[in-house]
Amino acid sequence: MNKNIKNGVEYLTFNNLSRIEGIRHAFSTRRGGVSEGIYSTMNLGYTRGDIKENVDENYRRMAKVLDCDSSCFVLSHQTHTVNVRLVTDSDKGCGITRPLEYSDIDGLITDTPGIVLVTLYADCVPLFFVDPVRKAVGLSHSGWRGTVNRMGKATVNAMREHFGTEPHDLVCGIGPCICMDCYEISEDVADEFTKEFPGCLLSAGDTIGDHTFLRDKGNGKYLLDLRAANRLIMLEAGVPEENIELPGICTCHNPDYLFSHRATGGKRGNLAAFLGLL
Ligand SMILES: [Zn+2]
Repeated sequence: MNKNIKNGVEYLTFNNLSRIEGIRHAFSTRRGGVSEGIYSTMNLGYTRGDIKENVDENYRRMAKVLDCDSSCFVLSHQTHTVNVRLVTDSDKGCGITRPLEYSDIDGLITDTPGIVLVTLYADCVPLFFVDPVRKAVGLSHSGWRGTVNRMGKATVNAMREHFGTEPHDLVCGIGPCICMDCYEISEDVADEFTKEFPGCLLSAGDTIGDHTFLRDKGNGKYLLDLRAANRLIMLEAGVPEENIELPGICTCHNPDYLFSHRATGGKRGNLAAFLGLL
């Protein structure tokens, strides 16, 4: 990923998505907004307890960076489902400049130019999908629950159904999230992964492979690599390996730069992913 600064706003972009004509995208950082305290400064979550006017202003600043207006944004309603919504012009502004009209939506897809999809993060995995052939985009939120239920595959399937997307055309990005070293999980969560992804458990001393992303710490705790798991799900869905860009940055390792739920014990704002067709 690339680090960028525009009008004092610091944000990240993918190299592979930046090369595609006709789209805009960004992943926010904590820098360049007006929020204070634990929300400092670029909090993009309205439900974290921050002042609404500050979040509004933060969205206006991100809109400027993306060369659009806040009323172009359409927000998810994230509850760790694998539900994907087809976004059309009638959704414009939902969750940002007017109230949300839907619930339990962790993935958004659209082929309507001018709309910018928005999803929220603080350790969970942002999944970006661009179909340059059918001219369509998808953006999904994938925490451990979304990962075990294959949110990435659900998004590809929705793009297939609505736009005729061929998975081999997709160009994808996996955004900043919590890394394996920082993401300790309990045995019951680990069990869900070994059930759903047989063979995902690493042997002692092994490094992460294409199909292995879970490490047993031996004390009833496990380490989970959400990036590797979501990459595998994209590969299973038919996305070419060379079309997937992975981040080199962990939210939990960089809590001053990115919001991290784990690093702050939940006292934090939200980062946002943005993706749309011009
Ligand atoms: Zn980390």
